[in-house]
Amino acid sequence: MSEGKPLSRVDFQGDRDLAELARDLVEALPGHVWSADRDGQFTYINPSMQEYFGLESSKEGFDWLEHVYTEDYDAASAKWRHSLQTGEIFESEHRLTGANGEHRWFRTKGRPSRDTLHRVAAWHGQNVDIEDQKAAEEELKARTVELSLLVDMVPSHLWRLTPDGMTTLVNKRMADFLGLDLSNVSTLESVMDTMFHPDDVEPVSTELTRCLATGDSFSMRYRLLRADGVFRWMSGRAEPLRDQEGNIVQWFGLCHDIEDQVQATAALRRSAEKLAQATQAANLSQLSASIAHEINQPLAAIAADSDACSRWLSIDPPNVERGKLAAARIAEDVVAVTNVVGRIRALFQHKPQPRTVEDINHLINEVLSLMSDEIAATTTRIDTELNPSLPPVLVDRVQVQQVLVNLIRNGIQAMDSTNPMRLLRIKSDRDGPSAVGISVEDSGSGFGDPDRVFEPFFTTKSTGMGMGLPICRSMVESHGGRLWVKNNETVGATVAFTLPIEAPN
Ligand code: ADP
Repeated sequence: MSEGKPLSRVDFQGDRDLAELARDLVEALPGHVWSADRDGQFTYINPSMQEYFGLESSKEGFDWLEHVYTEDYDAASAKWRHSLQTGEIFESEHRLTGANGEHRWFRTKGRPSRDTLHRVAAWHGQNVDIEDQKAAEEELKARTVELSLLVDMVPSHLWRLTPDGMTTLVNKRMADFLGLDLSNVSTLESVMDTMFHPDDVEPVSTELTRCLATGDSFSMRYRLLRADGVFRWMSGRAEPLRDQEGNIVQWFGLCHDIEDQVQATAALRRSAEKLAQATQAANLSQLSASIAHEINQPLAAIAADSDACSRWLSIDPPNVERGKLAAARIAEDVVAVTNVVGRIRALFQHKPQPRTVEDINHLINEVLSLMSDEIAATTTRIDTELNPSLPPVLVDRVQVQQVLVNLIRNGIQAMDSTNPMRLLRIKSDRDGPSAVGISVEDSGSGFGDPDRVFEPFFTTKSTGMGMGLPICRSMVESHGGRLWVKNNETVGATVAFTLPIEAPN
């Protein structure tokens, strides 16, 4: 290139004319370029296209459709025929089989060139290799399918909201839960209005509105109406998706069913409350102190009033009015004592609870979880050997839990802190054809006097009341079972009881 000459001039120097230059360019192009006559017979094929199809320089009789992959043939040849007939631009995507037997995707575009009478005189075209683009498209399609499969298979409910809170997508699991027809998107919004429990509509909508306005994450528990008309507790979360400028473009939400968990926690809380009441009632040593305190006061008053009464009556002349007043106070104090005694009796009166079908292993595990703090505080190791295939028992679950609490506590107390092996083994198993057997085995001191432990008020503990084992035995017997104690051969003691299995209907 000589200095100062404009570029365009350089390209046209010498005796080359434009047509020649164009041909040179086309020959040098790495892409496929071709020309055909008005009937579609090829008149020119550039070297890179010749190379692809393994053609010698002659392109006589070259029929490109022969090289179209079988599956794409019908569509490509129909379009080619159509263009030849109508003169419309030809455009097609198809696989072309090369000389090496490989087929690659190409996008072919052919334009007609027209003579002065506007008739098609020739076709000029180009095949662009789009193999990599197609592979990327296929990959993307496969990814999309995989992703939507994942979204549907994930064992949670997923949904998507617009920045102003419109639901635009729910996954299949959520649609099935709500009984939604996913092919009908209009049902989505209507169900969104009715799916929350009436008590949760207000708090959920307030919180969601706040999160949508502030961009804070949404996290709540609420009840959703399942397709069968049952409300179930859910734990829901939603997070905003932001663009590069930080604007919220979408919200993604996830919620999962926590109904079973909520029920289990509620049941555990209920039994913990009952157990706490029962344990309180059974805490006889504390109770005896308060009984003494409550009864001592009116008794002291009775003594003082009877003294006063006799003094008023023994003076001369006797003060009958004062004596009557003192006697009336004595009567009031007696009523107070009677009330205290009545209250204590009510406390001990165990109102029969309805019996329920229970899995004994479940009850044992519940008690262990309720006593976990106490067990941890005494560094006792608990080993359980629970037979998993026990039939259910029909029991007053609170009573059975009380029995278990008593036996476990006695066992822990029997292994004082100096005992390095504080091991308590709890077993459940069949006891013959019609009962299950439960045993609590400790590595403690053992029973000093096993024959006497069921006597009321027999205790060897300074703070004991000696009522635990008699009460446990009477509770077990009221269920038709037996409770007994024995010393282990080497160390410690075992307390065992049976419960009849529920008779099959
Ligand atoms: P308390 O625990 O208030 O003494 P219990 O009726 O539960 O009342 O127990 C009576 C007595 O039986 C206890 O004082 C203790 O001497 C003995 N005992 C109970 N359980 C065990 C055990 N696991 N190992 C050794 N002795 C026990």
